[in-house]
Amino acid sequence: MNIAVSNPAGLRQRLAAEVAAATRLLVMEGILDYSGHVSARVPGHDALLIQVRDESRAEVTPDGMLLVDFDGKVLEGKGKPPSETVIHTEILRSRPDVQSVLHCHMELAIAFTMMEGVQLRPMRARAVRWENGIPTHPDPSHIKLLEQGRALAATLGPHHAALMRAHGLIVVAESVPAMLVDAVHFKENASAQMQALQAGARPLPLTPAEMAQINRHEMRDAHVPKLWNYYVRKGIAAGVLPAEWQLL
Ligand SMILES: [Zn+2]
Repeated sequence: MNIAVSNPAGLRQRLAAEVAAATRLLVMEGILDYSGHVSARVPGHDALLIQVRDESRAEVTPDGMLLVDFDGKVLEGKGKPPSETVIHTEILRSRPDVQSVLHCHMELAIAFTMMEGVQLRPMRARAVRWENGIPTHPDPSHIKLLEQGRALAATLGPHHAALMRAHGLIVVAESVPAMLVDAVHFKENASAQMQALQAGARPLPLTPAEMAQINRHEMRDAHVPKLWNYYVRKGIAAGVLPAEWQLL
């Protein structure tokens, strides 16, 4: 970590390792599968790190990452970027606060774009992250064109996540580890609401007063490293991550 902070090349290598690790860990957690992708902004540049389009999400490596500019041009690396890379470029372009973007096709989340009168709401305490709402983007098609990417970024607006009608979702955060943690909690929260619906009950989302109370005790700066440590170690123990990537 100290090497990365004092050395731009080290920082890039560190970010590439984080993107590769998060991708593999999200596969392990059933959030990514044969498609979907993780990106990270390269600080100080209009460019991002993202995997090669057809590479298995379970096998991505730091050295295999592409450096892509915000016009979708590959600056470094071999191979084509994912066909929906414009999702990442337009969100990073419009949201300077965002350092990492996840796009995936989690079935549990997509279900909430296909139920009349049902809206995904913050249910569990950690879902206070989405206190200001989870918008649904109306375009169900693959996001390949610049105008589609801009429209999706507009739907996301200032929010930290967005659903995509009959297609998938977006999670954005201030770092790759934070994005991973948010994605895990997003799935937990969607699962909680689905369980309430499947029990035939009327879901009781967090109230504004409850969310204010949770925020009073929020410790995101401690929570993110704690869960990153947990998932990286779990991934190494499971053979999903090589220990030599030095992620901790
Ligand atoms: Zn997609």
